[in-house]
Amino acid sequence: MTERIYYNDSYRRLFRARIEEVSPDGRAVYLNQTAFYPSSGGQPFDIGMLGGARVVDVVDEGERIAHIVEGAAGVPSEDVEGAIDWDRRFDHMQQHTGQHLLSATFVDVLGAATLSFHLGDTVSTIELNIPALDAEAAARVERRTNERVMEAHPVTVAFRDASDDLGLRKATERTGMVRLVEIEGLDRSACGGTHVRSTAEIGCVLLRRQEKIRGRVRIEFVCGYRALKAAGEDFATLSEAARVLAMPAREVPAGALALKQRLEEAEKARRKLAGEFATARGLRAWEETPASKDGKKRRVVRAAALDDEVRAEATAFTSRPGALYLALCEAPSAVLLAVSEDVRPAAGERVKQALAELGGRGGGSARMAQASLSDAARLSLAEELLLV
Ligand SMILES: [Zn+2]
Repeated sequence: MTERIYYNDSYRRLFRARIEEVSPDGRAVYLNQTAFYPSSGGQPFDIGMLGGARVVDVVDEGERIAHIVEGAAGVPSEDVEGAIDWDRRFDHMQQHTGQHLLSATFVDVLGAATLSFHLGDTVSTIELNIPALDAEAAARVERRTNERVMEAHPVTVAFRDASDDLGLRKATERTGMVRLVEIEGLDRSACGGTHVRSTAEIGCVLLRRQEKIRGRVRIEFVCGYRALKAAGEDFATLSEAARVLAMPAREVPAGALALKQRLEEAEKARRKLAGEFATARGLRAWEETPASKDGKKRRVVRAAALDDEVRAEATAFTSRPGALYLALCEAPSAVLLAVSEDVRPAAGERVKQALAELGGRGGGSARMAQASLSDAARLSLAEELLLV
């Protein structure tokens, strides 16, 4: 059985313990007591050093705690020094105690209960039993939570019998002894995690993104140094956006929107001009293309895509008599054929006939038709067949 030092003293970073067992592969070390917290109750494990070995995972096996190590921590019956990574642990204590306080405040302000809690590497989440949360209500909860931080309520731990009337925010399924974590005057929870000793040590609590999951609200939050880091990163991101857009930070949302609209208008205008230019190109090409012996004018172009520009040029070229226009596209392998009103067979018919020989799919009207071919090698044959 491993005695859990963090149950009574979550501020212990250094401790001495006796090695009771080491797994045959040397990876798992069992101690008579430990300050290392194992993943449980939504709070991740601690990392740190055990003797000369790095602790990379801590697993709660019920009676005992397994320290998963890289390197040799020692042999059974030896004493060993343990040191937990305090920055990581204190961060977890801030987020975890912040969650108790935030959940209690959601109940007090909105009557919204917390159904689950997850402490992640960068953000933590709680899932609330309400279908929606508007910005004004979220701001009220955030404000009240931070007031309670600044009121510096003591956070205490006691062991009580589960059958007593403990006044818990959320009922526990445990029987026998439960660990009662109390934020004085605000919250009582059955919890095995590590917590700070005063709400003041939680630091600032910020609500972040929210999403709807299964008809409930899941909300992200950050506490303490994480909140400081998140606010700093937000500021850096906004400042960079402001610098790139050459406008004051507070004007970035409206400025970016205006820029987006201008870009959309410019793109629309560009497309219109490109269409007009393609039409002019088609008409000029008809003037400049010499007629073949049969009196017809044929124009073949290679196109990156069979788009509106190609269509406009083809339409213009074949708006004059005796003209055939063929656009070849390699990827995806496809052709577009347009013919003048007086050209026979018509475009759709030509494509249909050619496909009988080429394979592929396609079709169209008398004046313009398109086909997709199985591979680009068939393009030259398509050219022969379509322009006869
Ligand atoms: Zn807790």
